[in-house]
Amino acid sequence: MPITNTTPTIKDLLKTNFGYDQFLPNQEKIIQNVLKGNDTLAIMPTGGGKSLCFQLPALALSGTAIVVSPLIALMKDQVDALRSNGISAAYFNSSQPQEEQQKTLSDLQAGKLKLFYVAPESIFLLEDTLHRIDINLFAIDEAHCISSWGHDFRPAYTRLGSLKEQFPQIPLIALTATADSATQDDITKQLAIPKAKKFIASFDRPNLYLDVRPGQKRIQQILQFLKSHREESGIIYCLSRKSTQSVADKLLAAGYDAKAYHAGLSSEERSNIQESFVNDRTAIIVATIAFGMGIDKSNVRWVIHYNMPKNIEGYYQEIGRSGRDRLPAHTLLFYSFADVVQLRKFAEGSPTEEYQLAKLERMQQFAEALSCRRRALLGYFGEHLQEDCGNCDICKNPPTYFDGTLLAQKVCSAVARLQEQEALGMVIDVLRGAQNAQVFNKGYQGVKTYGVASDVSWRDLQQYVIQLINQGVLEIRFHENGRLTLTPLAKSVLFENRKIYLARPLQEKEEEKTTSESAVKTSGLFDKLKKLRGTLAKEMGVPAYVIFSDASLKDMVAKVPQTETEFANISGVGQAKLEKYATPFLKVIKEEQKKNPKKAIKATKKKGFKKTPTHLLSLALFNDGLTVDEISKERNLTSGTIYAHLEKAHISGEEIEIERLIKPEEIDKIIAAKDSIESPESLKAYFEYFEAKVPYWKIKLGLHLSE
Ligand code: ADP
Ligand code: ZN
Repeated sequence: MPITNTTPTIKDLLKTNFGYDQFLPNQEKIIQNVLKGNDTLAIMPTGGGKSLCFQLPALALSGTAIVVSPLIALMKDQVDALRSNGISAAYFNSSQPQEEQQKTLSDLQAGKLKLFYVAPESIFLLEDTLHRIDINLFAIDEAHCISSWGHDFRPAYTRLGSLKEQFPQIPLIALTATADSATQDDITKQLAIPKAKKFIASFDRPNLYLDVRPGQKRIQQILQFLKSHREESGIIYCLSRKSTQSVADKLLAAGYDAKAYHAGLSSEERSNIQESFVNDRTAIIVATIAFGMGIDKSNVRWVIHYNMPKNIEGYYQEIGRSGRDRLPAHTLLFYSFADVVQLRKFAEGSPTEEYQLAKLERMQQFAEALSCRRRALLGYFGEHLQEDCGNCDICKNPPTYFDGTLLAQKVCSAVARLQEQEALGMVIDVLRGAQNAQVFNKGYQGVKTYGVASDVSWRDLQQYVIQLINQGVLEIRFHENGRLTLTPLAKSVLFENRKIYLARPLQEKEEEKTTSESAVKTSGLFDKLKKLRGTLAKEMGVPAYVIFSDASLKDMVAKVPQTETEFANISGVGQAKLEKYATPFLKVIKEEQKKNPKKAIKATKKKGFKKTPTHLLSLALFNDGLTVDEISKERNLTSGTIYAHLEKAHISGEEIEIERLIKPEEIDKIIAAKDSIESPESLKAYFEYFEAKVPYWKIKLGLHLSE
C-alpha cells in the first residue's frame, strides 16, 4: 500500500489559496493523478470537496482550466468563491449580456483566467477559441448528467464525448456524487476516457445526524424541533405543493421565517426565494423536491422530510444538502404508513412500477429499522461499516426488547378472526375494543379477540404490528386495500408457541440534545461574526458563505485570534481573505472580548469545536507514529477497537501504512500456524495457539494478507 507522499507545493497552494491545512479524503490522490496528466473519475459525496480536485491543479499548472458545469447558479457560486480567494475565474453562458461575454472571452484569450466555467450548451460555440489558448485540464462537474441512467440527464452533456477526441493530450477529470456503478461506467464510456483512474470516496457523511420519528402530530414535533434550532437554515421537504403552503403558513403563524417553494410558482418567484435562502434572509424553506438542486449553500443545518421520500437515493441526496461545511447537521424523517400507501399509488401503473415499488420497500425498511441507520443506509449503497455510527437515533437511543409472544399471538389471532380482510387500522381498533361506527357496522364487537389488547395504546400497538410485518409474521397486501394477512411464520406463532421479541417503542421525548445542537451551539461572538459576514456579503453582492463558511466562523470562536498571524491559522483563511477580512473580523472579536472577558477566555480554553470522529482521532495518533497498542493505552480503548478505527479510516479513503500494523515475520508465523491448527477457519483456534499473545485483529489481518 502506498505511503502518503505529501508534496509541499500542493499543500502550500491549499493553505495560501483556500486557507486549509489538510486535504479531505482522496483529494490529494486525485490532484496528484490530474497533475500527472492522467484522466480521472472522482466520485465523492456532497460536501466531499470535489471542486478543489480541479481548482487546485488549475493553480498548480500553467494555463487555464475549462470547467463544464450544468447550472448557471452553480457556476456563479463557484466563481464568486474563487474570486473571494483572490483567484481569477469567470463563467460564460448564452444568457449573459454581450458585453460581459466579450470581456470574459478576451480575458480568456489573453490567458488571464485560471478557471473558465462554461455550460455544456455553450462550450462548442467556443471551439475555435479553445484551440487557440493554453488549456491545462478539462473538468466535467456533475458528470452523471451525461448518463441517461442518471437522474439529471442533460442531452447537451453527451456532446462532451468529443472533447477527448479534439484534445487528446489534455487531462480530463469527471466529478460526480452518484454512487451507482452503471452510471459511473457510462460516464467513462461516453467521455471516451476508458483509462481514467477511478477514485471513490466513502459515501458516509458522519456529521449528519440521522433521525426517524413516527409521523404523528408532525407540526407539533417540528415546532418543538425548531425551538433548539432558532435562526439556523433548514429545508422541509413535502410531497405535495398544497402541504408546502400549509406547513409554511403554520410556521409563519408560530413566528418562524418560512417560505413555501414549489413548481407552481413563477420562475421569478422561485429564484427570489432561492436567493433569499442562500443569502440567509429566509431561514426555512418548505419545498417539494424541486428545491435544492444546484444550491451550494454550505450552512444548511437541518433537513426535515415531512413525508417519506420514494427511494433511498432521493432521501440521501436531500439530507445531503445539509452540513456541506461538515459541521453537525440534523436530519429528521417522519415516517407514516399513510405515506407509504400514497407513494405506492403514485408508482402503480407506471412502466417501471415493479422497480419503483422495490425501491420504496427498501426506503420503508430503512425507516423501520431497529439497528444503526447509517449502517443500513451505507449498506444500501454497497458500503459496509464495521461499527455502529453513534450518530443516529437508534445508536443514541437503542431500543429495548421484550418477549412479545403473547401480544403477537393476540394480533395474529385477530387477523385470522377478521378473515384476513381488514387493514392495519381496523385490526388495531378491534384489538383495542374501539367503540366506533366502523367496528359496529361490521359487527366486530362480537369477535373473540375484540378488546384483548385494550391496555396497549393505539400508537404503540401500531408500532408492534409494523414490527410484526417487518419480522415476516404478517403481510400487508397493498393492492388489496392494505389488508393484513398471515404468513407461515404467523402459524407457528399461533400454534407452535414460537417466541417473538418486540422492541419497545420510543416514548415521545422532549427534543433531545443531538450533536447538531450541542456542537453548533451559537455564542454571542458567533452571532456577531455572522452579522458582520452578512453585511460584507451584501456589500459585495455574494452569498454569505462565500465570505466565510460557518466552519470558519466556528473556528474563530474556538481560537479567538488576536493578531493577523493567528487569524491566518483559521481554517478557510488563505492569503486573499487574510488581507481582505482580518481587520474587520479581528475588530469584532476584540470588541466582544472587552465586553465579555470571561466568556472569551472560556472559549479559548475549549479545545476545538468540531468533534473529530473517533476513528480519525485514532488515525491521527497512528500518523503521529504511535503503534496500535500505544494508541489503545492513550485512548483507553481495546486494540481491536483501534484497529477497527484504522480499518474504517482506510475504507473511507485514508492511507494507512499496513507495514506498521503487522510485520512480515508475524504474517509468516500466522501462515505457519495454519498447518498446526485443527480448525484453521476459527480465529479462536489461532488465538489459543498463540497463547493469547497475538490479538484477534492481527490474526484476522495476517490471514487476510496471506490469502
Ligand atoms: P462538493 O462539490 O463535493 O459537494 P465542495 O467542493 O463544495 O464539495 O466542498 C464542500 C466544502 O468543503 C466547501 O465549503 C469547501 O470549501 C470545503 N473544503 C474543500 N476542501 C477542503 C479541505 N481540504 N479542508 C477543509 N474544507 C474543505
Ligand atoms: Zn448509528
